[in-house]
Amino acid sequence: MIEQRTRDLAIALREAQRANAYKSEFLTGVSHELRTPLTTILGFARLLNDQFYGELNEKQQQYIGLICESGQHLLSLINDLLDLSRLDAGHTDLSYQVVSPVDICEQTLELLSQKAIEHSIHLHFKYQLPSDQQLVLLETRLVFQILVNLVSNALKFTPAGGEVEIHLTVLDRMLYFTVTDTGIGIPLDHQDRIFDPFYQVNNPARKRSDGTGLGLSLCKRFAELMSGTIEFESQEGVGSRFRLRLPFQPLELPPQLTA
Ligand code: ADP
Repeated sequence: MIEQRTRDLAIALREAQRANAYKSEFLTGVSHELRTPLTTILGFARLLNDQFYGELNEKQQQYIGLICESGQHLLSLINDLLDLSRLDAGHTDLSYQVVSPVDICEQTLELLSQKAIEHSIHLHFKYQLPSDQQLVLLETRLVFQILVNLVSNALKFTPAGGEVEIHLTVLDRMLYFTVTDTGIGIPLDHQDRIFDPFYQVNNPARKRSDGTGLGLSLCKRFAELMSGTIEFESQEGVGSRFRLRLPFQPLELPPQLTA
């Protein structure tokens, strides 16, 4: 009797794994197929939006603006789904590099500073790193993707005049990247769900095209892949603080290079 049940469970598990692998493969294929025509649509829509081939009237400008915005939203959704299906299929290869974590933060700042200016938000970066721990081994691409996500959220949910800070420090052989904002915060009764895929807090100020609801769930899974964690604290109307904590290997540099 017990043997029979064990056999049934093993068969059910194998079938579930096969179905999951099929779902991931299907999602990856579909996402790739969608991305190519969408890139073309976006490219031509942007050309029209820039009025490169002639002036547009007000209505035309409004409609082409909406096409660009919705297209961009769709592209983010496809990219996030692609990342998620790669994670599900176990196809996210890790590639660690010797890198300065300060550089990763500065690149994030560079990428998003224009957005901060557009939203009238003061975006800044502070760090405290011992001089012999300025270069470490990190999965640069994933760390960058997480930081871009956290800072984009901070900018999205902080009203004009607010502040967003990236802070980098090291403690007990752990690297801490902290993103703090003075934004709208996350209501207590939503806090245990914000890492769920597609979960978004309903907020009248947000636009439909403002995100996919996949960002934080991806960040959490990326962090776990690197044996790290993401924690947060938030207070409605006051702001939020998200902290990425990663183990790291400082490089043993010859003494003349560490000065
Ligand atoms: P989205 O694409 O909607 O940003 P995320 O998964 O990144 O999706 O975030 C999920 C939800 O968590 C957001 O829709 C928002 O409601 C909430 N959230 C995330 N970061 C912040 C933040 N810094 N301030 C306030 N709310 C946030």
